[in-house]
Amino acid sequence: MARYTDPVCKLCRQEGEKLFLKGDRCFSPKCSFERRSYPPGLHGRQAQFRRKESDYRMQLRAKQKARRVYGVYERQFRRYFRQAQTQKGLTGQNLLSILESRLDNVIYRLGLASSRAQARQLVIHGHFDVNGRKTNIPSFLVSPNDVIVVREGSKKSAFFKEAAQSLDEGRVPDWLNLDAKALSARVVSLPTRDHIDATLDEQLIVEYYSR
Ligand code: SF4
Repeated sequence: MARYTDPVCKLCRQEGEKLFLKGDRCFSPKCSFERRSYPPGLHGRQAQFRRKESDYRMQLRAKQKARRVYGVYERQFRRYFRQAQTQKGLTGQNLLSILESRLDNVIYRLGLASSRAQARQLVIHGHFDVNGRKTNIPSFLVSPNDVIVVREGSKKSAFFKEAAQSLDEGRVPDWLNLDAKALSARVVSLPTRDHIDATLDEQLIVEYYSR
């Protein structure tokens, strides 16, 4: 499985919109997309005018955008899609709910990390317990009533001391319940479509995999 090693800002320029992959930088004038909102590459500027919006291209872009926003490889994304198909309800919405339930995304939603990439690093480095057990798997899918806590040893670190001060319980989506003082959170329910980025087009993703 190939690891993406190019600058992540290229992904935004490829998608033609800001995907907010780099935390605070995305909101600063340093954002690459603010300065160069055309596709990367030697002929990027011209390419943006030549692009044809075929159905396939729109479906592919919708799928790639969701994959990039959540930082998921193709194989795993396809696996999530198959899992979504086996669940009750609309496959596209199930897929987004699965992506949103990943532990790295939950850490990002709680405001403990400024980007999903940073949240993934924090999880991999073993800073969290889920239901009392150390969990260092970013793709771990949370369930209702799961309790996520910053581990005791990590709470003393400068990073989490600072994070604790900037946490805002009011900004956390209502499917999560954050206790900022205790650096812990409970999953109230699974995320629904209303909780998820409205610019993601799950219908096009379903069409892509149904070709
Ligand atoms: Fe995208 Fe953020 Fe890079 Fe801007 S700074 S191009 S929003 S990843």
